[in-house]
Amino acid sequence: MRDRLYTTEAIILRRSEVGEADRLLTIYTPAYGKLAVSARGVRKTSSKLAGHLELFLHTRLQLAKGRTFDVVTESRVVQPMRRLRDDLDRISWAYYVSELLDKMTPDGSENPALFRLLRDTMAAIDEIDGDVERDVLIRFYELHILVLSGYRPHLFHCAQCEAELGQDADRFSAQAGGVLCPRCAQLDPLAVPMTFGAFKLLRYLARSTGADARALAPSATTLLESGRLLKLAMRQILERELKSVVFLDLLRS
Ligand SMILES: [Zn+2]
Repeated sequence: MRDRLYTTEAIILRRSEVGEADRLLTIYTPAYGKLAVSARGVRKTSSKLAGHLELFLHTRLQLAKGRTFDVVTESRVVQPMRRLRDDLDRISWAYYVSELLDKMTPDGSENPALFRLLRDTMAAIDEIDGDVERDVLIRFYELHILVLSGYRPHLFHCAQCEAELGQDADRFSAQAGGVLCPRCAQLDPLAVPMTFGAFKLLRYLARSTGADARALAPSATTLLESGRLLKLAMRQILERELKSVVFLDLLRS
């Protein structure tokens, strides 16, 4: 029996109700990547797991190997994310962050760096009050989820010919995988215009650790534009619009 148990840190990305009292959870873990696990009886008020398996929580779980899904046997909250779970604006960003990771990663593929990115992003959404700081953090997350999933956008060398990019680079091609030099840009009808401000921000974020990025104060238009370029890159990979992008746009309108 003991061999069937293991523990892991986890962040709860998604959950759905199953039967009378159970839930199926999609969690992200450092060593096992994305997993679907079962929480039996969790919707009963008497369950010792009740309240310990809420969405977006950072927890330490004990799991038992199961035939179809592994089963949660214990959950200890590492970070309660109270502000995040009490505020509609923070909740919508947490949904976006979770959904992006869920869509961009396959099941069961180990990626501890991606776990740390998710954990730090959720903690920052819980903590940050300013819109600009939050938006910079989301841009950092979008860029680094691409990098850590193996789709690093070309920002320093032309996505087509690999020539070093200078200040005159002003076209982004999601199809080619990043920024184009002026010569290649002329030959790519699908490349979109990019301002120097957005180019500079993306390059800075690519080299940043996240904590230093939060001190930046780019203009609202630069933040929007860099977000649009990153979403083009993500859409190219996902080949369809993310539901939560639509959700956030709805929330803003
Ligand atoms: Zn080129």
